[in-house]
This record gives sequence, structure tokens and C-alpha cells, in this order.
Amino acid sequence: MADTSFDVIIIGGGPGGYVTAIRGAQLGLKVCVVEKQYLGGICLNWGCIPTKALLRSAEIYHGMKNAEDYGLTAKGVGFDIKKVIARSRGVSGQLSQGVVYLLKKNNVTVVDGEAKLAGPGKVDVSKDGKALPQLSAKHVIIATGARPRALPGLEHDGKLVWSYFEALDPDIMPKKLLVIGSGATAMTLVPAIADDVAHITMLQRSPTYVVSRPTRDVFANRLRRLLPEKVAYAIIRRKNIFRQGLVYRKTRTDPEKIKNLLIGGVRAGLGPDYDVDTHFTPTYNPWDQRLCLIPDGDLFKVIRSGRASVVTDIVDTFTETGIRLQSGEDLEADIIVTATGLNLKWPRAR
Ligand SMILES: Cc1cc2nc3c(=O)[nH]c(=O)nc-3n(C[C@H](O)[C@H](O)[C@H](O)COP(=O)(O)OP(=O)(O)OC[C@H]3O[C@@H](n4cnc5c(N)ncnc54)[C@H](O)[C@@H]3O)c2cc1C
Repeated sequence: MADTSFDVIIIGGGPGGYVTAIRGAQLGLKVCVVEKQYLGGICLNWGCIPTKALLRSAEIYHGMKNAEDYGLTAKGVGFDIKKVIARSRGVSGQLSQGVVYLLKKNNVTVVDGEAKLAGPGKVDVSKDGKALPQLSAKHVIIATGARPRALPGLEHDGKLVWSYFEALDPDIMPKKLLVIGSGATAMTLVPAIADDVAHITMLQRSPTYVVSRPTRDVFANRLRRLLPEKVAYAIIRRKNIFRQGLVYRKTRTDPEKIKNLLIGGVRAGLGPDYDVDTHFTPTYNPWDQRLCLIPDGDLFKVIRSGRASVVTDIVDTFTETGIRLQSGEDLEADIIVTATGLNLKWPRAR
């Protein structure tokens, strides 16, 4: 590595890190990213992208199974889970390579290794236990993300207890899968995996606000057709910021109204017979705690189809066949995925 002195060193090459690096370089700064694993971080390699790739396979599978609704014929429709997973991993790999390209194009130096803060403006880096030359910079940005938090007594072993890492690249698919948690990770995983298992249960201690939004922004797409890309982008960005700000302010001034609106959306998504009061009516006000956005009502679809269900209760103990809840109910599971939060990563000083 020729250069070791920079304006900015960014530790971590996930969305937080690589986007900051590109922007810094575009503003004329000499930027270095240190990444210990995969560029693109969790989002491109284990989160947003591979889950959406799995959802796309599920969407096509369902489309083919219901081909007759569209006047089409499809016979012998099935799926090969290994190939579905391989495609998802392939999409991730491709996009991660896209980040390599973008950083190179913007003259960002990428250092492959694990960073540790060594003092003000100093960063030590090691690769496979060997020290690389020390880096220095006027500014160091920490963008090291977070990693799944295990439940006490239920540490991830990759066999019976999975984190999202194993859930997205499994060796085998269980018949009965239990996902503990109802934050963004659980809500993304449940619809993405529901097709590959006989049944998936999402166990939550308390409900979360869930909002379904379309994946395609009709307004934005129309505007892009009518106006130059840059102008359309600026208008769409302002509109989105304005709308989000408006909704947020309304949650502060009139929380009951927004609460009713959000829960009304869930009722519409799940139908009149679903127990929305128990499973989708949080005790807190909107935005005081979790609010999850789901694309095209995917979670509602898998619940309506009976492939997934939600249980609201507290874990009492783990049994040989799954979990006993405080209500006394037993939940059977071949595999448990904990999606119960994240621990922030911190590149400790030596
Ligand atoms: C299953 C799942 C689905 C998700 N779906 C969505 C979604 O649909 N939409 C959405 O917006 N978000 C989604 N997320 C969340 C999203 O992935 C994260 O918000 C995002 O990845 C956070 O980016 P980050 O850059 O802060 O951290 P990370 O992506 O975690 O990146 C941090 C990087 O830092 C590196 N690093 C850590 N320590 C060091 C060190 N000491 N030295 C060098 N490198 C280091 C890591 O290897 C990693 O590459 C999902 C997450 C999961 C788990």
C-alpha cells in the first residue's frame, strides 16, 4: 500500500461507510475505506439485497402457481431451494462488486483488513493476524454497523439457533421455523423464507407498527419520464422529505389519529377476522418506538395465506421441541431464528 495518509479514513464498507466515502471523494477529499469482510456490509451481503432477491423468487413462484388467473398455463411448478439461495447469493455478490467498482471510479483507497483506533487520527489495520502499515488521517469516521444480538441461553450455534446469517444461506430448510422478534429483521425474513418452509411463526413480546408501501413509486416513475433525471430526482427527494416530516410532526401533535390510520391499514391488509388488537396494536405511540415498512404488504400476504402466523407472548423456557410460552402454550420449532436486536460494533483501541 503506497499511501497511508488521508483526509478521511472510514472504518467499515457498508452503506454508511461506502456512501460517505464516495461523497467525500466527490467533494475533493482523499479518502480511504477499511473493510474487514465484504464491501457493501450487511445490507448488500446479508440484509436488504439477498432478502429482496429471495422475495423476487417467491413472487415469481406464486405468479406461476396462479398463472390461470392471468390466462396463462404453467405446469409442474416447483422450486429448488439450493438454486433459489444460490441466485440470492449471486445477486449479493454482483452488487458487492458494484461497490468495488464505484469506490475505484471515485479514487477511494480500499484497505482489506480489520481496523482498530490507535490514537487521534491513527488507525491500525491487520489482516489474518498480520499488521499492515498504520494509517493516519485528519478525520476518522466509524461506520462499523451492528451485529445480531443473541438471547441469553440461546446463543447462535448455526444448527438449532440461527441468526440472519444462517437464515439467508441455510444448508437445510426446516419444516417449522420460529423467528423471535418483530423488528425490521424479523419482518423482512418472514415473507422471504415463508415459501421455503412448511410454516413460519413470528413470536413477538409486543406488537410493532407496520406500514405497507408499494415498491414502485408511480409519481416518481412518471416524473422521471417527463423531466431530466436530475430535476426529477430533486423534486422526488423534496417530496419524500416533506411527506415524511409531515407524518412525523402529525405523530407528535395528533398521535391517536395517526395510530388509527396505521392500524386501519393493517386491518385492510389482514382482513376483518384477524386479531389486529392483539398482534398489531402497539402500546406506544407511532414513532416512539419501532415502526416497520413492508414492501407491497408482503408480510400480510404470507399471514393471509396461512404460511406464516404471529404469536404475541413471552418466552418462558426452551423445550426439546421448541419453546414454552408464559401463557402455557407450546410452540414447536425445528429451528429458531433470533431477530431480537443488534449490538453496535466498535473498533476498540488496542
Ligand atoms: C435480514 C435483514 C434485512 C434488511 N432489510 C433492509 C431493507 O430492506 N431496507 C433497509 O433499509 N435496511 C435493511 N436492513 C438493515 C441494513 O442492512 C442496515 O441498516 C445497514 O446494513 C447498516 O449499514 P451500516 O453501514 O451502518 O453497517 P453494516 O452494513 O453492518 O456495515 C458495517 C461494515 O463494517 C465492517 N466492519 C466492522 N468492524 C470493522 C473493523 N473493525 N474494521 C473494518 N471493517 C469493519 C463490517 O465488516 C461491515 O461490512 C436489513 C438488515 C437485515 C439483517
